Amino acid sequence: MRGPGEHTYDCQQCGACCCNPDENRSERYIDYVEVTRRSALASHPRLLQRLTVVNASGERHMRLRGAEQRCVALEGTLGLRVACTIYALRPAGCRAVVPGSKECRRDRRERGIDFVK
Ligand code: SF4
Ligand code: SF4
Repeated sequence: MRGPGEHTYDCQQCGACCCNPDENRSERYIDYVEVTRRSALASHPRLLQRLTVVNASGERHMRLRGAEQRCVALEGTLGLRVACTIYALRPAGCRAVVPGSKECRRDRRERGIDFVK
């Protein structure tokens, strides 16, 4: 899709917003993508157990992994080709991200993903 500045924001070549942002990292905050009881994922107990973690307050979030602190449901290589393995069940926060938005551009910048024309 086209966003500000005529850049193309191809989510399948990106994945930046599926990684914990720098501000969270600096605060050692790993509760990035919340999974509420109303989430479609909540009705899949096995996936829920494998892909999410519960914090000390009892809130559930997507599990992060690796140095990239990427969501465990993300497959592929950041900035090249990625896919969300639970796309139809992804939490509300994931659905709210707008390609080309301020947050999107911040996430891409932080993960070193160049704009693709
Ligand atoms: S950071 Fe932007 S372009 Fe990248 S996956 Fe997220 S919404 Fe799509
Ligand atoms: S659930 Fe899917 S869209 Fe949401 S952060 Fe994880 S990989 Fe990205």
